[in-house]
Amino acid sequence: MNHKTKQCILSGNLAIELQTIEKMTEIYCLAHHGQALCNSCTDFISHAQQKLDRCVYGQDKPACKHCPIHCYKPYYKQQAQTIMRYAGPRMIFKHPILTIRHLIKDRKQFPERIPNGLSNYQQRKHK
Ligand SMILES: [Zn+2]
Repeated sequence: MNHKTKQCILSGNLAIELQTIEKMTEIYCLAHHGQALCNSCTDFISHAQQKLDRCVYGQDKPACKHCPIHCYKPYYKQQAQTIMRYAGPRMIFKHPILTIRHLIKDRKQFPERIPNGLSNYQQRKHK
């Protein structure tokens, strides 16, 4: 499956977040699997995309790290942690703008109540 063709379902901040995840996964995959991107890493990005599409916090979502929901399946969550730990510190040199955008998001608070109807998925359906 080619995630790049599916990518168009996301827009705005969510598309940028997916792009950030993609860049990080590329850095990780290149160092650990000798390519950008292997099947398993491509599969991981597809999962991330699906979760971003369904994220109830929608376009204004804070960084996933402190999310009370944790929507990733355990296998992918594990993979996310491994990838982020490796690629995180390397991102600032390779993709400074994306990194800064992420750091701003990282300081954002989650709303106390879970919002309704904000997910990219729901927005897409109502267009
Ligand atoms: Zn890989």
